[in-house]
Amino acid sequence: MQTFYKSILWATLVLFLLSLAFSFLFDTQAKPEVLSLNQLTARINSGEITKITVQGDNLKISLKDGKEAVAQKETESGLSETLKNYGVKTDALNQVAIEIQDESGFQFWMGILLPTLLPLIAMVVIFWFIFRQAKTGANQAFTFGRSSLRLYGNFKDRPTFKDVAGLKEAKHELEEVVDFLKNPKKFLDMGARIPRGVLLMGSPGTGKTLLARSVAGESGVPFFFISASEFVEMFVGVGASRTRDAFATAKKAAPSILFIDEIDAIGRERGAGVGGGHDEREQTLNQILVEMDGFERDNNVIVLAATNRPDILDRALLRPGRFDRRVWLDLPDINDREAILKLHAKDKPLAKNTDLRQIAIRTPGFSGADLANLMNESAILAAHHNRKEVIQNDLYDSIEKVMLGPQRKGRAISQKEKEITAYHEAGHALVAASLKDADPVHKISIISRGRAGGYTLKLPLEEQRLRTRSQFLAEVAVALGGYVAEQEIFGEMSTGASSDLREASKVTRALVTQFGMSEAIGPQTFGESHDLMFLGKEITSERNYSEATADKIDIEVKKFTERSYTAAKKIISSRRQILKAVAQALIEKEELEKEAFDKIISSFKLKPLSI
Ligand code: ADP
Ligand code: MG
Ligand code: ZN
Repeated sequence: MQTFYKSILWATLVLFLLSLAFSFLFDTQAKPEVLSLNQLTARINSGEITKITVQGDNLKISLKDGKEAVAQKETESGLSETLKNYGVKTDALNQVAIEIQDESGFQFWMGILLPTLLPLIAMVVIFWFIFRQAKTGANQAFTFGRSSLRLYGNFKDRPTFKDVAGLKEAKHELEEVVDFLKNPKKFLDMGARIPRGVLLMGSPGTGKTLLARSVAGESGVPFFFISASEFVEMFVGVGASRTRDAFATAKKAAPSILFIDEIDAIGRERGAGVGGGHDEREQTLNQILVEMDGFERDNNVIVLAATNRPDILDRALLRPGRFDRRVWLDLPDINDREAILKLHAKDKPLAKNTDLRQIAIRTPGFSGADLANLMNESAILAAHHNRKEVIQNDLYDSIEKVMLGPQRKGRAISQKEKEITAYHEAGHALVAASLKDADPVHKISIISRGRAGGYTLKLPLEEQRLRTRSQFLAEVAVALGGYVAEQEIFGEMSTGASSDLREASKVTRALVTQFGMSEAIGPQTFGESHDLMFLGKEITSERNYSEATADKIDIEVKKFTERSYTAAKKIISSRRQILKAVAQALIEKEELEKEAFDKIISSFKLKPLSI
């Protein structure tokens, strides 16, 4: 749409310039004084006139003082004859230079034609602009049925694989695609069928769009870009024709890449839609299927698509011959996180002693977009404090800002509330420090952020793919640590523990129903689970077991919870002195980094327990 406004703007500008030219032309013509033949004769006699130019019956008169004037002579007779009839003096007339010009002079014709031609020319220019824009296929004005397909960037400012950190497997997959676009013959000679569609899947912010754009940069072919949500956003019935158009444009420009971002907006399972716009989606999806089937073997258009909801995609899209290549984009591991941070630190002045590895350690579960955001926040923070460089603390603060929202230092809390929060967090931290299988504590804070009153940052020492039952139980004990501490010290519980309890229940239930970690229940899973943990989405499940089993499950869940609870309770009550020391330090400083916390703990010479 932007380009539509652009062409309107252009048209207006052209019109404006033309009318300016017009008024200018008429202005100069209208200026000269019009003389009657009587006046002209009188002025010749008084010697005021130097030159008369004759064009047909028109007289252009140059006056001595440099001014110009015009007059008309009688049609039938010559100039000097006419003037003589009006009584001009012969020797006065001799002083005047008389020039006869051809009547069909340029100016004469322009004077007649210009007023009629100019609007016509203006129209032509306007239409030329509009058509020129429409023809590129990238921009349309007035044609809503056409795809709002965008031709992406000129080759120079496209990102390349260098701008994408990590994602090695995904890049490797896509390198093949790039290779094909560069030398299709190599593959076709081997009788290989070229992938038509490549589907990029991964949770939001993992770099799908970025990676797709970098494929464009690597391959150096035209790259057409459309967001699927645009197909459905405006008018009913245009989705299908837009799709047809998008494919036609890409084919014309082949070899080329057509990138459909957020394809889940149209590609969701047909017949499963709820609410409006559903028919529209189906038609659009059908059209995509038709187009992808219509590719010939040596048609070198590759369709890239991205989604963070592969679970809801229509099966037909995933059939061979369509999006038969699927590329997973995982959340970055610790090394990738460091690489991404480095990449986004490039244009920011970092202090010499900053350690991005430390930031990578503290950011498990962050997506590439989160990390990019973190670097940006740290730069903002440094600028806000009028520093010339970003220091390590800016980075640390930004982690929490991205994770939990900005600090709410201003929020007034009572001394009592502060104490409760301090003991609560100290409880988490103490249990974590006491249990062998718990993740170590990295930071404790009682400054509220977002919705959290305070928080204890615990992180695994190394990236873990597998977790054991002991680790889960320790995790639950740590989660209950806050609750237990409040109970121990104040004799009652506050609402501050509710999210901890929810977390604990979730883990213990999963132990029993998903991981088969209960001896009594055995190696089974319960509930039709849509395992979307990797997409950062919770497991959704429907019940597919009997009441009796449900009871058994409940009993087992309770057993695990109690086991962790007892462990937490034992730690808190037997190590009250340490709890108090940590809580006091928190009340005083509000935040404790790992080093400060370790110092308190080690002064008590704790022995690690197992659960
Ligand atoms: P998605 O499309 O998967 O939701 P984007 O590709 O839009 O995510 O990523 C958003 C931003 O996050 C990118 O513009 C980039 O700045 C940053 N980013 C994400 N992943 C990476 C990565 N692997 N390397 C570098 N930057 C990344
Ligand atoms: Mg995206
Ligand atoms: Zn808590």
